[in-house]
Amino acid sequence: MLAGVVTETFPGERRVALVPAGVKALKAKGIEVVVEKGAGLRAGFDDESYAKEGARLATDRAAVFAESQVICQLRTLGANPRAGRGDAELMRPGQTIIGFCEPLTSAEPIELMASRGVRTFAVELMPRTTRAQSMDALSSQAMIAGYKAALLAAATLPRMFPMMMTAAGTVPAAHVLVIGAGVAGLQAIATCKRLGAVVSAYDIRPAVREEAESVGARFLQLDLPTTNAEDRGGYARAMDDSFYRAQRELMTGAVAKADVVITTAVVPGKKAPVLISADMVSRMPRGAVIVDLAAERGGNCELTRADETVVAGGEGGEGGVTILGPTNIAASVPDHASRLYSRNLVAFLLHIVKDGAVRTDPSDEIIQSTLLTDGGRIVQRRVREILGLDRGPAEGSGG
Ligand code: NAD
Repeated sequence: MLAGVVTETFPGERRVALVPAGVKALKAKGIEVVVEKGAGLRAGFDDESYAKEGARLATDRAAVFAESQVICQLRTLGANPRAGRGDAELMRPGQTIIGFCEPLTSAEPIELMASRGVRTFAVELMPRTTRAQSMDALSSQAMIAGYKAALLAAATLPRMFPMMMTAAGTVPAAHVLVIGAGVAGLQAIATCKRLGAVVSAYDIRPAVREEAESVGARFLQLDLPTTNAEDRGGYARAMDDSFYRAQRELMTGAVAKADVVITTAVVPGKKAPVLISADMVSRMPRGAVIVDLAAERGGNCELTRADETVVAGGEGGEGGVTILGPTNIAASVPDHASRLYSRNLVAFLLHIVKDGAVRTDPSDEIIQSTLLTDGGRIVQRRVREILGLDRGPAEGSGG
């Protein structure tokens, strides 16, 4: 079995799917690795460090695709439809591709992968079970995103996070509100707390309260009907417009008091709910900062623009509220993000490879959840449903 690692081509991407320690772990289990030269450079792993762990280096991408039974990526063509387009030509029928695929966003790039006859495993479809925890790349990268969001907020705010009692006077602690306390939100809470801020948090899943409190946040109690807010998979459900309107009204006071708001509220496969209106932003203190981690899905703040810095209010771009909407934030911590992703990938590979071949056994929950394309078609049931692929050609083109 030969696993190939290629350079990530998504604009601004600095991570690599497998780090040298991952090569070592795979080799120990009989899986050889070939790495495209330079693939790890932007994450801080040079070619020599891969060679030292026993990887073979290949000069070009086409050679890696041509040789490998399994291709390891962060963003497959599905999650990199423009820059990754050329990979379609390199894919071989029966080859296995593992990585983020954004399967709930758009059918077209995934259908292209299917048409090339490759077997694709989408890591974001990993079940949230104890057994799959070590393979959960969504969580490892969300954790980093939450951490870095807190740092971005702290570095942008024209105030300090901790209370300081100094000879020159006392400065109060910054107030942070985290909306959405999943993996990213909990790490944002913990990081802001470590930096000395006073942190509040809100999530529509009532079960989260205890976790948010355990990492140091005060949980906001809003009078909203949230008993049905969680689905069986532990994810938030999409609520209707009247719910979100009520939520915005009830959160207006807490947002107005916050120096920093970090939002992470998403619903799988849906546009992110708008939880902070322009009017709410206008009530925030001068210099306040919003870091919107839902920017890639449209944003939790009405004013967010993906990968741009927006300054609302103030004069000449100064003194207003700064809204940051980073979309690929884990890539800005490429060393650790790659190491954790690589661990996830190694655990997953060792799970699916048996006797030198990739298993597609549908009775295995992990395989059944993540296997996206096989034998020329999209096979994942939930993805077919969400993309409307079984409804007939007129409705089935995705979007
Ligand atoms: P996510 O990234 O899908 O969403 C972020 C958070 O936003 C969620 O907590 C969600 O409830 C919240 N949210 C959605 N709409 C909101 C709204 N209108 N207002 C406020 N908050 C809103 O979440 P995630 O980090 O991927 O976690 C989802 C669930 O999966 C959690 O229960 C988490 O504990 C669980 N999980 C389990 C495992 C495991 O068991 N292996 C691993 C990771 C996550």
